[in-house]
Amino acid sequence: MVNTALRKKFLEIHRILGRRYPKVRRHRPRPLMDELMLQLAGNRSDEFRRAALDRIRKRFADWNELRVARVSDAERIFEDLPGGSEWAVRAIRTLEDIFQDRGDMDLAFLGTMKLPEVRRFLTSIKGIDRAEADAVILEALNAPVMPVTEWGLRFAKRMSLAGKKATRAHWQKVVEETLPVEHIYKFYKLIEKHVETICHPERPECDRCLLRGRCSSKGRF
Ligand code: SF4
Repeated sequence: MVNTALRKKFLEIHRILGRRYPKVRRHRPRPLMDELMLQLAGNRSDEFRRAALDRIRKRFADWNELRVARVSDAERIFEDLPGGSEWAVRAIRTLEDIFQDRGDMDLAFLGTMKLPEVRRFLTSIKGIDRAEADAVILEALNAPVMPVTEWGLRFAKRMSLAGKKATRAHWQKVVEETLPVEHIYKFYKLIEKHVETICHPERPECDRCLLRGRCSSKGRF
């Protein structure tokens, strides 16, 4: 049974953060391979992701061309993006792993599989953990899955949306069971933006935070 008090709190946070970050909205789902490669960038910002994809489009015909590129060339192409060279090397290795495993670069088959099988395939790729796999599922397959990252769980604990000892799996279950499915994508992106902008890991800027009136951790840092 849905916890109505918690649902109300989730929806309130969704509304407040939605007002604070009006530019956060559902973008057109990216192709699966684009999203998968971008997840290899870890915690890097959306700006990094956009810049990396833009460069891929300008310099390579497709992901296969990056796969067969010389590592030193790829490193050079991305070197002015902070962390770009490392990302390019990881991307080449991952593309090669997928090619060796599948014989091609087409991931369209994932769209026909059940969620646990898609997760299993994605997390079998070196460098992709459960949260990153779920982000690919949410972003590229448009499935109502809440990716549970370290920063997301930290925010949930600060806001008392999850208990101090809650695990990532527990937090994911709570969100997916409590929040209407149509809000999951935006809720995830709004929290990501808020953590990036205000609720930093160290020294969150509680004085500037629109959630401070509802946050049990405000001013404790
Ligand atoms: S009040 Fe502080 S700890 Fe709470 S959500 Fe806002 S920034 Fe984070």
